Amino acid sequence: MHELSVTESLLEIALRHAQQAGATRVTALHLVIGQLSSIVDDSVQFYWDFVSKDTIAEGARLHFRRIPTELACQACGERYAPDGENLACPKCKGTRVRVAAGDEFRLDSIDVEPDAPPEEQDAEERPRR
Ligand SMILES: [Zn+2]
Repeated sequence: MHELSVTESLLEIALRHAQQAGATRVTALHLVIGQLSSIVDDSVQFYWDFVSKDTIAEGARLHFRRIPTELACQACGERYAPDGENLACPKCKGTRVRVAAGDEFRLDSIDVEPDAPPEEQDAEERPRR
């Protein structure tokens, strides 16, 4: 249950930032997930609805931005997107490569409201499953 602990820490971060901003409600989280990340966004959404219950972030929308994989050749410094299973550098055919982008998972930003919105707006914002 990797995503559960990840989602719990997301909530913790979001609530801390909301508190610092003096917000009474978190309406959205903007997340960045690399293509290589093992995080499954559906699972995060599922756990989110569960862990955010009875907090000021309950019902917040999760927005996921996918970052494509990018490799960097250690030999010539070329940065490129891998071609299927072939991870070798297209320029020098080098095989000593590192992941330059695509394995990240982070909270980019949150949307907050300074005051509690009307109840009907709250209901509309809540994701249904
Ligand atoms: Zn190279």
